[in-house]
Amino acid sequence: MIEIFSYNLFTIRSLFGDTRLSENNKVSYITTSSTEVKSKTLFVPLRGNKDGHEFILDALTRGAVAFLCERNHPILKELNFEEIQKAIIVDNTLYALGKIASFHRNRFQPIVIGITGSSGKTTTKELMGLVAEQIGKNQIVVTEKNYNNEIGVPFTLFRINEKTKLVVCEMGMNHKNEIARLTYIVRPSIGIITNVGPCHIENLGSVENIAKAKAEIIEGMGIASKLFIPKDVLFKEIFQHKAKQYKVSLHSFSMQKNSEIQIERVIPEGFELNLFGKKMDWKIPGEKILENFSAVVSAARELNFSQDEIRKGLSSYKAKDKRFVVKKGFYQIINDTYNANPDSMKSSLSALKQISSDSHYYAVLGDMKELGKFSKYYHLELGEFCNNLGLSGLITFGKYSELISKKFTTSKNKKLSPHFIDSNESIEGLISFVKSKIPKGSFILVKGSRSMKMERIVEGLIH
Ligand code: ADP
Repeated sequence: MIEIFSYNLFTIRSLFGDTRLSENNKVSYITTSSTEVKSKTLFVPLRGNKDGHEFILDALTRGAVAFLCERNHPILKELNFEEIQKAIIVDNTLYALGKIASFHRNRFQPIVIGITGSSGKTTTKELMGLVAEQIGKNQIVVTEKNYNNEIGVPFTLFRINEKTKLVVCEMGMNHKNEIARLTYIVRPSIGIITNVGPCHIENLGSVENIAKAKAEIIEGMGIASKLFIPKDVLFKEIFQHKAKQYKVSLHSFSMQKNSEIQIERVIPEGFELNLFGKKMDWKIPGEKILENFSAVVSAARELNFSQDEIRKGLSSYKAKDKRFVVKKGFYQIINDTYNANPDSMKSSLSALKQISSDSHYYAVLGDMKELGKFSKYYHLELGEFCNNLGLSGLITFGKYSELISKKFTTSKNKKLSPHFIDSNESIEGLISFVKSKIPKGSFILVKGSRSMKMERIVEGLIH
């Protein structure tokens, strides 16, 4: 990740208590990858699978003007005097990146919308971004791709400048306290919790803890900020209590109870809606996605967007990037391989049923990861859900997904339900199986957790 970053080196150094009066070099870029370094770049080495500090010499060779380095890191012994002069010593480079981002963000006064939740963050961010665009693309900053973690969020914030009026910032997390650290950097005055569900429950331990982790967003929001939560959110009292404690006002949204939006008719491709008293075609199937729609309408109204601006923004939404993207061919393949958790699986399976209308519909489902000791429970639960859905067949792939299939086959309706283990040969077997058994024109949803790389199956089915 690289971003334009216009600072004097002295300013950045002084954030970390380094007030050496050296020559006041200009910094023009900031990056976490040494391969992106060009002249006048500040290099931020992070610890991941590899320790980014190992690439400091590479960054310097490519022209880095300065680099962050953790205190007493062994790399410092390998650098010569001139190279060491370029070091900015910090305790933790990831937190230091956040500190620089926070300094940058606080120099400006845009309205910042922070979006978090177990599922639906990206969709909500996209929808909010499209509404925000109505005030002019050069006056807004919207999270790009999935830059929603402690590395991505700082880079989103670095894009803020004096022209920025509105920031739409997606905030993701896998662990407790990550949203707390992010919210102090982002400082949103509008927050949206898309939903609370069993995503990353392996790390968090319970859905209640997940709700608490999402509620951390309130800590950085400031008095009189506004937090939007789903009307029927799990552990609502956690949000109510914390909002009161921090004097943040709580607003709930709901598709059912929103006087400004009504579903007039459910159609296979989506919904005919009534938005602010006028008809609007919404060509995305799935009621859960409409919850995100409703959240954005509520927040946008609070921000005084006009009805026309909201309608125009929302009408331009298109699903993309492995998120329920329908590919028409011999089969109607629904590529939803971006990721999966118990809620998003159910959401997409319901949308599959809706879009298939009178045709046969099948699902190829991979494992849902990061469920830890709850893996068995949630895979079996999903099997039960599949039973009630009327699927013409279910093909499972991986390890835990066999449990989805087990529940499906043990039901009264004995349907097509083979299981394939995760291997290259098995992918080929799965693809041949589908091609030999599933009739032309059927709808096939392909979904699983990111690490299952279910797009390999999509590729095989469309070729
Ligand atoms: P995230 O960015 O939080 O991973 P996305 O917007 O990419 O979420 O949506 C991922 C999946 O979650 C999709 O398959 C979609 O069907 C499902 N989904 C979207 N919004 C919701 C919601 N509000 N509640 C439950 N599931 C949802």
